[in-house]
Amino acid sequence: MSNWAQRFWDRLRPTAPSRSSSEQLHQGRWRCVNCDREHSWPFDLAANAPDPWPHATDYEANGALRMDGDFLSEDFCVLNGEHFFVRAVMTIPVHGMADDFGFGCWSTLSRQNFEKYVDAFDSPRPSQEELWSGWLCNRMADFVEDDPLGVWVQLRPGRQRPLLWAMDNDHPLALAQENGISADQLMTIFRHYGHGPEV
Ligand SMILES: [Zn+2]
Repeated sequence: MSNWAQRFWDRLRPTAPSRSSSEQLHQGRWRCVNCDREHSWPFDLAANAPDPWPHATDYEANGALRMDGDFLSEDFCVLNGEHFFVRAVMTIPVHGMADDFGFGCWSTLSRQNFEKYVDAFDSPRPSQEELWSGWLCNRMADFVEDDPLGVWVQLRPGRQRPLLWAMDNDHPLALAQENGISADQLMTIFRHYGHGPEV
């Protein structure tokens, strides 16, 4: 295991809360340390834009898409007229829970695949067997450090956002997608983004 993966797991040691994180998750509600209200499961996290996006996240309409310069909508992003991104979802099963955890995040696509995706966006899509390749463009808690992570982009029927799968089978994120994570590990992710339970 690489050093940073070891650090990641070390950080997941339980901190002896009064009501354990996993208990709170299994009960489906927890009092957020940050938002002054309860969150309930399933609770997904989403990144508003690819991490390299240098501007405020003011969304334009999808229909206003421009292929030159910079553009951001809820589903599409273009940087510098040369980098193309789509909003997708990365799912991770959680032990003992029926629902997967969903992380809304962004992947690059080649210009060619991006154009195909945009062209078919408003039509009812059949599911597609072929996987596209891209780079994950958001850090996911401590799973992803500065090294870019290659992902498979799996289109889904209808208006569902594409699924992302970590390409490198040995990467901690690929292992998490394959084997699932514990409720405590999930709460550590929520805590990373400021939405963990009070302890
Ligand atoms: Zn919160």
